[in-house]
Amino acid sequence: MSRGSWWRVLAPVAVGGAFLVFTALERRVPLRRVREAKWRHVSRNIVFAGAAAATVNLLERPVVEPLAKAVDRRRCGVLYLCRLPRPLHVVLAIVLLDYTLYAWHVLTHRVPWLWRFHLVHHVDRDLDASTALRFHAGELALSIPWRAMQIAAIGVPADALLIWQNLLLLSIFFHHSNVELPVGVERLLARLIVTPRLHGIHHSIVPAETNSNWSSGFTVWDRLHGTLRFDVPQQAITIGVPAYPAPADVTLANSFALPFRPQRPWRTFPGDGEPEPHRPATTVSELVP
Ligand SMILES: [Zn+2]
Repeated sequence: MSRGSWWRVLAPVAVGGAFLVFTALERRVPLRRVREAKWRHVSRNIVFAGAAAATVNLLERPVVEPLAKAVDRRRCGVLYLCRLPRPLHVVLAIVLLDYTLYAWHVLTHRVPWLWRFHLVHHVDRDLDASTALRFHAGELALSIPWRAMQIAAIGVPADALLIWQNLLLLSIFFHHSNVELPVGVERLLARLIVTPRLHGIHHSIVPAETNSNWSSGFTVWDRLHGTLRFDVPQQAITIGVPAYPAPADVTLANSFALPFRPQRPWRTFPGDGEPEPHRPATTVSELVP
């Protein structure tokens, strides 16, 4: 078996194993309070994973893999202009994929027809490793042209793409997980990568908190853009979207139909004119040194 073939076999085992480990740890050392029964929540999100896997295999893979090979053959993209040693080229491709994914994440919140789909990820009422699987197939399909542009503009060869895809899966399982790490460890990790407490702030129902911590891998992009927030304690966070607070809003049927229905104004609770949620300025996060 070649090195590439081993990687293709072992990487999914490592990613699947990481999901199981995080899910087991969530029961032992939960970070935030939980509102739904664990297995109902996880099994529902696994259905999303099935639809997502079908979309990736049938639509994304036939586009991005041949594209990455063609980019390598024809030496297209910014990194090929620099004539770098191969290992450095691969590392920089991964870093730039991570940065351009930051930009895509911001777009999914800012562009109304993209938000309709990304909303399905955010309405989850608990945040755990299985939320990393809860992406509407439509969002994944809509991301294919963006992914193709990333590959062609950066100059991402197939091996860098495969490494990044697996690292990204590990990263999103980790930072969506509801696992309480020792604060000192998480503070150290947060200097470099996105951690559960940081991403928990992005999934808060408070709009000003949702509009922060956009990174998916390295925290440097949020630092660069001034969008990194440490200052919200996890026990004070309610996970979700203000306009969709009810258990009925997250069922499979309603979630799959959500992008195609009339949208509620997401910042307000439905029906009763409650004010926009906010947090008193006095709260201090455990991540703030
Ligand atoms: Zn988001």
